[in-house]
Amino acid sequence: MNIILFGAPGVGKGTQAKILSHVYHIPHISTGDILREAIKAETPLGIKAKVLMDRGNLVPDDVMIGLVTDLLASDRCKNGFILDGFPRTVGQAKALDSIFVKMKIHTFKVINIDVDKTLIIERLTDRFLCVQCGKIYNSTIDKFKAGDKCFKCGGLIFQRDDDKPETVKNRLEIYYKTTEPVKKYYQQTHSVIDVNGVGEIEEITQRLLSALG
Ligand code: AMP
Repeated sequence: MNIILFGAPGVGKGTQAKILSHVYHIPHISTGDILREAIKAETPLGIKAKVLMDRGNLVPDDVMIGLVTDLLASDRCKNGFILDGFPRTVGQAKALDSIFVKMKIHTFKVINIDVDKTLIIERLTDRFLCVQCGKIYNSTIDKFKAGDKCFKCGGLIFQRDDDKPETVKNRLEIYYKTTEPVKKYYQQTHSVIDVNGVGEIEEITQRLLSALG
């Protein structure tokens, strides 16, 4: 199964991709997570990406396309993959089409998770994470603040720099201007399955599973 999980930041792509990855036994390829790992490891890619990501800007297409080309060619993707956060520009979508042709990948599903813009802003600015296990917390529901300890593993809870309100605004502007056209591109060239991303995590997973058949 080859899946492209599409949607604005904060619609729950990462959470759902992790679940689907377990269900279908295929790797979850999150370009955002890969870049954050590179930043942590202070690799040349990480150093370059940090400045852009901290402001909510996109990493250049050539860098991202090179990264995804190598990943998809790796052994772990031989039975399929879930792409989360890629493609984010029409240029990346076109490059991905060429990668699929070269790799003889003929079938893939594009799923768009839909959430209203106001709810996205609320979700993103309320989102906190455990530094250790990556568990996502919502400060309003879970009632805690940055610096508290994770209920699951005791790791420190923090807010991603790019989830701070000023950066969220820029990320969303970029999403609607640069990334949303990718959906139109797929609607014209392939097909897109829309899934409502509002509700409980389990409920949304069920919608995704029935959409994927
Ligand atoms: P995410 O975790 O998917 O929200 O990604 C976090 C940040 O990583 C984005 O705001 C971008 O700065 C960068 N990023 C992730 N994926 C891409 C991509 N496909 N193209 C360009 N930048 C990306």
